[in-house]
Amino acid sequence: SNGFPTHITKVCCIGAGYVGGPTCAVIADRCPHIKVTIVDISVERIRLWNEGPLPIYEPGLEEVVGRCRGRNLFFTTDVTRAIEEAELIFVSVNTPTKTSGLGAGMAADLKYIEAATRMIVDASTSNKIIVEKSTVPCRTAQSILTILENNCRPNVCFQVLSNPEFLAEGTAIADLQAPDRILIGGMNSPAGKDAQEALVKIYSNWVPRKRIITTNLWSSELSKLAANAMLAQRISSVNALSALCEATGADIDEVATAVGWDTRIGPNFLKAGVGFGGSCFHKDILNLVYLCESLNLPEVAHYWKQVVDLNEYQKTRFVRKIISNLFHTVSNKRIAILGFAFKKNTGDTRETPALTVVDCLLAEDAQLSIYDPVVSHEQMLEDISSLRRPNGTSNITLNTDVYEACKEADALVVCTEWDQFKTLDYKRIYQSMRKPAFIFDGRLILDPIELRQIGFSVEIIGKSQPI
Ligand code: NAD
Repeated sequence: SNGFPTHITKVCCIGAGYVGGPTCAVIADRCPHIKVTIVDISVERIRLWNEGPLPIYEPGLEEVVGRCRGRNLFFTTDVTRAIEEAELIFVSVNTPTKTSGLGAGMAADLKYIEAATRMIVDASTSNKIIVEKSTVPCRTAQSILTILENNCRPNVCFQVLSNPEFLAEGTAIADLQAPDRILIGGMNSPAGKDAQEALVKIYSNWVPRKRIITTNLWSSELSKLAANAMLAQRISSVNALSALCEATGADIDEVATAVGWDTRIGPNFLKAGVGFGGSCFHKDILNLVYLCESLNLPEVAHYWKQVVDLNEYQKTRFVRKIISNLFHTVSNKRIAILGFAFKKNTGDTRETPALTVVDCLLAEDAQLSIYDPVVSHEQMLEDISSLRRPNGTSNITLNTDVYEACKEADALVVCTEWDQFKTLDYKRIYQSMRKPAFIFDGRLILDPIELRQIGFSVEIIGKSQPI
């Protein structure tokens, strides 16, 4: 049969990670009539989703999962059965950057996408709508469809949709509950339209219809890369200006506010800092750059590559600022790293700028104490063990108490904008530090006037010393 139901009652999601877990938990929460089954090949991840503590930290996630789990939300490693019974399947597996071979360090590694696709086709005995939730290079849906069509049982049909996820870690649940927009790309055929309509209906349970956009497949796939490239570009633009501010006496917060009042530019996502991190911006821009190169568009590739290059520059520029202020040597100096997550309200450390700061300071023989309110010490050790000086771990102390971390330090370095860093007892911290006591604010969250009154030397990205 060629028919695709437009009224979905059973959904499966392949990949129980940062995207698949929260996204499908919110679908289960908002659509009590739909049975949602999330599968993963990681036994440990599924165990944690079922028994806790949840494998990822997101404000509001526990409540949502608590309401639905066992009702219409299930986590399992029984992939075949979950695929078999579902009418619509989200593919939300990881798409990391390739580490070897053609396009190493640039192209997206699609092996998990292909493996998931083959699992789907092997297990399918009825028509399925396959939804690309992962971020993929433009035209991946074509590859998925070709694999499906060449391996399916007789009389089993597939439709492939692109439905990229725009949530931001740290605010995932709020973003999912009230998204700016939902993007659904599909084939321009009657069956393609039916499939699109089926997914539109699911989201319509809580998202206003005007915020649900339907496009062709390739526009949808490319829009995700475009959105991340343009968001990262704003950060690199403001960070480029921050260097200019430090050199001129301008203040990056004042400049960003003045620029952001222009309604054509807008005020959001103009915060300077130590550089963007996270699993997506870096990888997705490189993916876009690689796509441009492979399509013989070198000028376009070069344009987007600059966004990544500037980000790398910003991270090392911050470290140079730390070292030059500490009298050009940090050898055996104690430096407290405040925050290790790539941003606040997440325990995710993928591509965290804190790790670059740690790496550079270890290479200069600094003694580091690291504190983060959410990131586990196991995670920190795993990340640090990947550095070029793994034996440098003997120069590192991991702290569970922020005041302990700061004790006898020469300098504090704010790498993550956790709210709690704004309200620490800095008088107490100052007393416990070596003098002169420095603070390097890589996230522009502290009040320099108050800190200078206490006695600190304060250095902030994008701000010069008061004249
Ligand atoms: P993740 O690594 O947290 O989760 C992916 C999960 O897929 C893992 O648990 C892995 O075990 C599982 N998996 C891989 N192959 C599988 C298979 N064949 N069968 C079953 N499970 C399998 O990754 P993530 O952060 O959730 O990202 C997933 C995708 O979403 C990526 O393409 C990413 O670019 C995209 N994305 C991520 C974010 C974000 O903020 N993290 C936002 C938007 C889009």
